[in-house]
Amino acid sequence: MGTDAAQTGHLTAAALAVLPALERWLEFTDVAAPARRRDAWRAALDVDLPEKGAGADATLAELADQVVANGLPIGAPRFTGFITTGPPTVPAVAQFAAALASPQRYAVSAFNLLEDVSLRWLAQLCGLDDQVAGVYSSGGSVANLLALGAARQYAFERHGIDVGRDGLPPGMPARIYASAEAHHTVQRSAAVLGLGRDGVRSVPVDAHQRIRTDVLTAMIEADVAGGAVPVAVVGVAGTTNTGAIDPLDTLADIAARHDTWLHVDGAYGLPAAGLGEMAARFDGMRRAQSWIVDPHKWLATGVGCAATYVRDPLLLHRCFTQTPAAYLAMPGRGPAASPFEEFGVHYDDMGVELSAPPRGVLVWAVLREIGREGLHDRVRRHIGYARRLTELAHRHPRLEALTEPELSVACVRYRPARPVPDPELDRLNEELLRRLWRTTGHLPTSTVVDGRFAIRPCFIGVRHSEADVDGLAERIVEVGDAVAAG
Ligand SMILES: *Cc1c(COP(=O)(O)O)cnc(C)c1O
Repeated sequence: MGTDAAQTGHLTAAALAVLPALERWLEFTDVAAPARRRDAWRAALDVDLPEKGAGADATLAELADQVVANGLPIGAPRFTGFITTGPPTVPAVAQFAAALASPQRYAVSAFNLLEDVSLRWLAQLCGLDDQVAGVYSSGGSVANLLALGAARQYAFERHGIDVGRDGLPPGMPARIYASAEAHHTVQRSAAVLGLGRDGVRSVPVDAHQRIRTDVLTAMIEADVAGGAVPVAVVGVAGTTNTGAIDPLDTLADIAARHDTWLHVDGAYGLPAAGLGEMAARFDGMRRAQSWIVDPHKWLATGVGCAATYVRDPLLLHRCFTQTPAAYLAMPGRGPAASPFEEFGVHYDDMGVELSAPPRGVLVWAVLREIGREGLHDRVRRHIGYARRLTELAHRHPRLEALTEPELSVACVRYRPARPVPDPELDRLNEELLRRLWRTTGHLPTSTVVDGRFAIRPCFIGVRHSEADVDGLAERIVEVGDAVAAG
């Protein structure tokens, strides 16, 4: 027991030792329980490095009783925080299967093929044309980095500089333009790419939280006149705070006029672009040079899955290649007769990861199971939930909607019957949200809209129902009444 000798032959028994705990977890009966029990599982788990192994049975029992039972209820029907969700059964099992059947994405395997196939499906699902090339990475953070790396490569090659090889030239400050509501991974990408976080010009937004294109134009013109190199304009297709969609068609015009790259950050919102009724809001999207989408958001693949698409994958290669590595270099000859005679598409040279799990199988599993139609139904249902909550807030005398949702994020707050100034409303709603978490099982998070604190559910979980939406509105009023009464 407790050595590598015991590593074979008990997979089914091992899985069965944990599955009942997982089934119980997925009932989400008491989502605050792990936090309340924190001292107990901390004491059980935070122990010294074991000198001798406990063996498989004891480890799996502890996994079931102490770890699984005290997880994070992101997949719960009433969890609507941030923009994240848990996978349903099929992609979760696909992830488990991949861990065992193909721990890496490369070489000749069905998993490797599904990288290519699912990237094609995902592009079609999101309404991208078939001239794009994709690569998976761990999340929107890295996906944005890759896209902006390609943009940086493009911008400097136009000045005769291979920036991936030679680095940034002195005296040519590079700029990225993104709205104040854009995700701050854009700033981090700029830092990693050597532009610096302050190399991102933060463009103010209008009353709908969309980028001010007049200000953007003025900023680019001033920077160009001052000798800066515009690297990219970022259009957000679904902001993280409120789900706003930037005017992509106008951004495409501006980018074209300045011969600049347009990057669409659709980490959250891009799957909505394939919906007929949403098409007008994504107008101009195909005129961009790069896009990202996080299947671990609306597709609910399980976390660790994003895709970057570009028109010219060689830009990614020139930006991110690790240059030839001797231990990867064995070329195939003729039809592959062993798994390692062919590497497949060199995704490792189009990003920043060499070792990486197959992620295409997750996207494949979701789309194979429910199809484009099922995914579109999900997106439509979730947008409907955000509108429903907003509508309920409009109708209720003590609720207020702070946005009109474009996607599946709603921003609402409680307002007592007596008039209350904004700072006090902020404090009241903060306390309301804490009590909501502790006492109701509803788990939205918050944001700030035009300086006002908002309770901000994002509906992207596969398990939400309309009753959860109505329940959330009712609980906000009840808890708000209680907080307001003091
Ligand atoms: C979530 C999000 C990101 C970051 O993605 P991660 O997967 O969390 O790294 C970037 N941009 C937008 C618009 C997002 O919503």
